[in-house]
Amino acid sequence: MNISRSILAGVIMLGSIVESSFSQDGKPVAIVIHGGAGTIRRETMTPEREKAYREALEQALKTGYDILKKGGTSLDAVEATIRVMEDSPLFNAGKGAVFTAEGTNELDAAIMDGATLKAGSVAGLKRIKNPITLARNVMEHSPHVMMVGNGAETFARQRGLEFVDPSYFRTEHRWNQLQEAKKREQQPASEPSQDKKPGGLEDDEFKFGTVGCVALDRFGNLAAGTSTGGTTNKKYGRVGDAPIIGAGTYANNKTCGVSCTGTGEYFIRSVVGHDVSALMEYRGMSVKEAAELVVMDKLVKMGGDGGLIAMDNKGNIAMPFNTSGMYRGYIDINGTVVIQIYRE
Ligand code: ASP
Repeated sequence: MNISRSILAGVIMLGSIVESSFSQDGKPVAIVIHGGAGTIRRETMTPEREKAYREALEQALKTGYDILKKGGTSLDAVEATIRVMEDSPLFNAGKGAVFTAEGTNELDAAIMDGATLKAGSVAGLKRIKNPITLARNVMEHSPHVMMVGNGAETFARQRGLEFVDPSYFRTEHRWNQLQEAKKREQQPASEPSQDKKPGGLEDDEFKFGTVGCVALDRFGNLAAGTSTGGTTNKKYGRVGDAPIIGAGTYANNKTCGVSCTGTGEYFIRSVVGHDVSALMEYRGMSVKEAAELVVMDKLVKMGGDGGLIAMDNKGNIAMPFNTSGMYRGYIDINGTVVIQIYRE
């Protein structure tokens, strides 16, 4: 069975098996992705929309998996996979990103190499087509870890990255979400605080769509990446957790790779990515135990909504979320293909 047919089978029948999930020289490889957590309910999803999401997740998974199977690195797989999702209007990353309060799109992304603990991140980008590629350039071609706004775009120009007109990112769906959020904001004024969801949205209107990927390559190296437009109606240069190393994105060969999605403010304050890794390193927890504890206990107690994907250095995968759904999928080291949206 070829890979694309077997992934398709995975869409229809969860847990199908790819012939083998080993690179050409016999080393195990695996990949896990998310396309955002949030209020995603079967009752409000049309069959067409669900099909579109499943196909986009499948295409992203296949892109990264093919690289890993051919012996490519986890960094290459993570970058290429996230680029596919950035180019899809369905996700809140690259094209299709949510709008800020000013009606602009401002993009954040990060990538981390579990082998070296090197990392690159970018925030507040307005014209870079693929923020994940700029994050990787920051990691590999600068002495810095994080670059923001105009400075990051100057660096992008030097590196020859693709620029687009800001209108490229616009979709009607996201524009309408901004109008809804603004209407809601006009209702009874209350002081903004870290105890409340940002952006004028209440729990039920929280729809995420950030994308992320963790990959394990034939060299036993983990890499993680995340890309997002942030949260609808965000204000004043707000930056979320995705580009914060240790919060929304983290990778360490000793433990795991992590990519998060959810209310970024809470993920930053909980230092979610590093927390999962630290529980594994210092408390000897498995990736599943550590990820569950952080998402279903610590974050819930704080009031944070969302989820994460995590994979350890053996290819074990965890995908906990405390919202009604999370777009997600993986091909594990046994070749099992899974694509899921709701709580199964
Ligand atoms: N975590 C992202 C942020 O706060 C949003 C998301 O996951 O959709 O920027």
